[in-house]
Amino acid sequence: MARFGDMSRLKEYASNLVNRFKRNRSSVDSQNELIEPNGTTEAVMESTPLWRKKSVIITSSAVIAVATAAIIGIQQYKQYINNNTFEIFHVYQNGEYIGSVDEVTAVQQLINEEQMELAGNNPGLSMELHTGEITYESETGFKITATTEETLSKLEQTFTSNAVGIAIVVDGKTLGYVKDEVAASNILSRVQKQYAPQAAAEAEARKFEALSFNATEAQAEEADTQPEEKQLSEVGDSALSIKEVQFVEAVDLTVDQVEPTEIMDEEELYKRIVDGSTKPTKYTVQKGDCIGCIAQKFGISEQVIYENNPNIVGDKITAGDEIDLTVRMPEITVRSVEQLVEIEEIAIPIQYVENKEVREGQTKTLQTGAPGSQRLTYEITKENGYIVSEELVAQEVIEEATPTIIEKGTMVVAGVGSGQFAYPVTNYRISSKYGKRWGKLHAGVDFTGNKNIKASDAGVVEFVGTKNGYGNTIIIDHQNGYKTLYGHLSSYDVSKGDKVEQGDKIGIMGNTGRSTGTHLHFEIIKNGSTVNPLKYL
Ligand SMILES: [Zn+2]
Repeated sequence: MARFGDMSRLKEYASNLVNRFKRNRSSVDSQNELIEPNGTTEAVMESTPLWRKKSVIITSSAVIAVATAAIIGIQQYKQYINNNTFEIFHVYQNGEYIGSVDEVTAVQQLINEEQMELAGNNPGLSMELHTGEITYESETGFKITATTEETLSKLEQTFTSNAVGIAIVVDGKTLGYVKDEVAASNILSRVQKQYAPQAAAEAEARKFEALSFNATEAQAEEADTQPEEKQLSEVGDSALSIKEVQFVEAVDLTVDQVEPTEIMDEEELYKRIVDGSTKPTKYTVQKGDCIGCIAQKFGISEQVIYENNPNIVGDKITAGDEIDLTVRMPEITVRSVEQLVEIEEIAIPIQYVENKEVREGQTKTLQTGAPGSQRLTYEITKENGYIVSEELVAQEVIEEATPTIIEKGTMVVAGVGSGQFAYPVTNYRISSKYGKRWGKLHAGVDFTGNKNIKASDAGVVEFVGTKNGYGNTIIIDHQNGYKTLYGHLSSYDVSKGDKVEQGDKIGIMGNTGRSTGTHLHFEIIKNGSTVNPLKYL
């Protein structure tokens, strides 16, 4: 509360008032200048009526006048009375009597002085002076005098004042006061920029006004200024745009009456908000640490570590390094929703075409495919810059991929004979038939011709190796009671256990064993006994 610093000023002020009073003695309209409303004060002064005439007092003065009139001449007396009859004003504050003043303007001048002093002592702040409700009563009387100086001094003691502050209120909690709405808006705008710099940059690019703390307003504005969609066509192209930025908490500005000392400057309140309950945390890297391990150990995001420690490249940290693990815990949470559009490749699909003519396990590429492309739209939500969710919201195919078509054999070789035997040699000539020779049974048929030896029927290779007299020999079990034997081979194309189809090449004709020239000795064995092959071929 501003006061008159010393009495001499008050006296000067009072004598000015008296002079003014004398000059304006006969002026009736002085009350008009008293009632000019003052915009910045709460001083309540009713415009009409400012005061009431005290007719009782006027009446009693008339009685005195009559008594004195007897002594001196009526005319002289009247003039004397007139010259010594004055009007004073009784001052009431909220109905309580304070004292009297010569002229009502004295009180108004006191209030004006107070306001100026208040403003001068609190530069930049919006101040309010509370004077209470001041009312007046006039009194006219013979040789009546007012105690103006005393009254003004007494009145002035009762005045109170406060500053008008704009409070930033987050979820009902007042974080602090600044001098005006501009300062408060600046702070909130800076908080948004701090935690959604991408949003701020984009807003700037779109020639936004400073981001509003009012989310609906910001959104409305955004809707008006949607940028033209960036043309994306190549795989790998991407574009990021901000869908919305808002505070998670309810953020309000309220006007409050506060002590001038409670008003903070912008920077101070901004710091209080962004620092919030943040506690700086340092950590010395231990042997065997990794970024992920440290993040897990402290229950923080790896993003925090990378952002706080821009010198970490890749995941390289060394034991003994000191790193900053401080997680920002500001009073206000800025949530931004960003839209990321990316052109991504559609992988080449592989289609298989079955071919039962081809052995199982064998494949052949019939068509070589080509990748396609698609436009993927993700919505990324961040809180104070940390990603909290990422969602695929749209997927649009630009170009379908061409599939690679692969033929796949499905023929299963069962290894079971059909019972229908085929010649094991093409362009064959029979050099010796089945039957008795020199008193001994020639148990098979000897063939010459093409050197490639073929399986006579489907079956499972039972034996591959040398047999006494037969030389290099293959025996195929047709799993139907029949076996076939191929002797004197020079080499084999199958191994024991192989499944073969009729006509599969199994080896090369040779002259191994007891043989008199290159030929195939071929036997058909039915239930353990040889039969005449020529009856089956
Ligand atoms: Zn033979």
